[in-house]
Amino acid sequence: MAIATRDPATGIVERTFAPMSDEEVERALADAAGAVVALRRTTFADRAAWMRAAADLLEADAPTLAATMTREMGKTLASAEAEVRKAAHGCRYYAEHAAAMLAPEPADAPAVGAAAAYSVYQPLGVVLAVMPWNYPVWQVLRFAAPALMAGNAGLLKHASNVPQTALYLGELFTRAGFPAGAFGTLLIGSAQVERVLRDERVAAATLTGSEAAGRSVARIAGDVLKKTVLELGGSDPYLVLPSADVARAAATAVRARCQNNGQSCIAAKRFIVHAEVYDEFVAAFTEGMAALRVGDPADPDTDVGPVATEQGRAELAELVADAVAKGATVLTGGEAPAGPGWFYPPTVLADVDATMRLYREETFGPVAVVYRVADLAEALELANGTAFGLGAVVWTTDEAERVRCVAELESGAVTVNGMTTSYPELPFGGIKTSGYGRELAAVGIREFCNLKAVWVG
Ligand code: NDP
Repeated sequence: MAIATRDPATGIVERTFAPMSDEEVERALADAAGAVVALRRTTFADRAAWMRAAADLLEADAPTLAATMTREMGKTLASAEAEVRKAAHGCRYYAEHAAAMLAPEPADAPAVGAAAAYSVYQPLGVVLAVMPWNYPVWQVLRFAAPALMAGNAGLLKHASNVPQTALYLGELFTRAGFPAGAFGTLLIGSAQVERVLRDERVAAATLTGSEAAGRSVARIAGDVLKKTVLELGGSDPYLVLPSADVARAAATAVRARCQNNGQSCIAAKRFIVHAEVYDEFVAAFTEGMAALRVGDPADPDTDVGPVATEQGRAELAELVADAVAKGATVLTGGEAPAGPGWFYPPTVLADVDATMRLYREETFGPVAVVYRVADLAEALELANGTAFGLGAVVWTTDEAERVRCVAELESGAVTVNGMTTSYPELPFGGIKTSGYGRELAAVGIREFCNLKAVWVG
């Protein structure tokens, strides 16, 4: 894919960028390696002050940065601004808590013969971050804030359709006071990732994106024995059981499916509803989906903007067409409008079965599938009958059902009576083909640390 800003609302290419030359990549690697040495001489207090300054910059720049994000990937202006503010909050969170999260840990029990025994967390070095376009600021910051607070340096290879956002992020941390090279952007295509990952100055990698990209990075990292964290796709189930507040469950379902124009790994995608409340839920959910206003993402009245790429919309349309051809029922939406831009209407499909691609595949856009089930056992079987395992939602006020769902849903997160969201205070990540490792919380900052055991005789 060319490195370019192409407005998804119009399809017009606004700016293109030449990928960095080998010499420029070499300089970025050398700068990052130099920054690791400089960062070693800094304290948590130094880094926390710079991280808070980065949060201040993000907040000050929010209106212009949000406008860039909207033009590059089509999310609504309001959601882009909210994302920038969430990223600033993430910076402040790690500025405040990193020192405690990485405090030396005493041995589990007195070590035989030792005057002292404990472990210390130390940075790994330069971490390569391969990032997606869908939350082009938050995804990057939720890696960068803990990584830099731990004393690592970061090199960002952002998605090729968000280069101006990537360039902004590549300057943010030096503007905030971090040593030169502590966090830089590599304006490169995905074919250049292998060379960077194999470079001896790179210690580890994190990737958020598709399964194919994750497999490729994991394969190369395996070859050179480097640590990776992978956040990949999801097809999250959303269970609605008879004791639920059905009206709230339906209203929340609309947001859970259509947040970020339907392009979120943790969006609810499969709505699994008990027969007792199926008709009531599906009627309210379909009405809510149909009422969303689709249009110019810069217009404050718009709920759902365009899909980010032409290919993304084509893939979505193909999944729907395949299901409809095999007998699925369209309850609302289902037809891409004519005209410029890559718009797709909020869509609800019923009567979906295992012969259809979207029974198994992820829909990265505002397309929902509703399933009717007879009981909780059938709901859990359907929910877990997927290769993914990112998030899962259940609506119930029955305690035994809640306990069973928390125990049996195969996912990295379970949300009860709400929608899946990422919080700095809670781990984020998946199982099965949704990836491995965790971001956020204390576990997130420790992923790229060397936990060094110390024994003093
Ligand atoms: P891609 O995987 O194509 O792109 C994500 C990033 O990976 C981009 O920077 C891309 O670069 C890069 N990339 C692509 N192929 C390779 C490769 N072979 N080697 C190294 N880097 C590569 O994802 P999409 O654009 O298709 O984004 C949507 C997908 O990402 C969905 O499946 C979604 O579920 C998943 N995702 C998961 C999230 C999570 O947190 N678990 C969050 C967001 C999205 P380039 O743009 O240059 O191709």
